[in-house]
Amino acid sequence: MAIENTLSIIKPDATRRDLTGLVNAKFEKAGLKIIAQKRLHLSKAVAQKFYEVHKDRPFYNDLVEFMISGPIIVQVLRGEGAVILNRTVMGATNPSEADEGTIRKEFAESIEANSVHGSDSSENAINEINFFFAEIELLI
Ligand code: ADP
Ligand code: MG
Repeated sequence: MAIENTLSIIKPDATRRDLTGLVNAKFEKAGLKIIAQKRLHLSKAVAQKFYEVHKDRPFYNDLVEFMISGPIIVQVLRGEGAVILNRTVMGATNPSEADEGTIRKEFAESIEANSVHGSDSSENAINEINFFFAEIELLI
């Protein structure tokens, strides 16, 4: 599989509990290099735009409120098959269904406050990275 980039977000439930380092250790142990990251506190408009794909889902408004409830860490992870690899390291959306050893199994509080976001396809990864990062931030 080719080397690719994927977008990851450490969500407010995890930054609130100071889990950034433990989450990042999971990525690095799995072979995902953290090639860019920054701490942001999203405005409502930005969170709504990022999650626009979910705007008709019943959980959309709650999800937006949750994502602006505290700071997040947006990051670009790089590795072989990074999109799928990151989804494996994250675990299932619902932590009660997540495999042992995954981030969500170990750290998530609920199906909503599930500690991390990860792109779900190579195409979405490119779009999501471009949403948060400028080209210059990825060239170092
Ligand atoms: P994933 O983050 O695993 O790709 P989705 O893209 O389906 O999952 O959903 C985006 C986010 O919306 C989830 O990570 C979670 O924070 C929230 N979410 C998903 N399903 C629910 C639900 N049934 N109830 C509350 N929040 C949800
Ligand atoms: Mg998703």
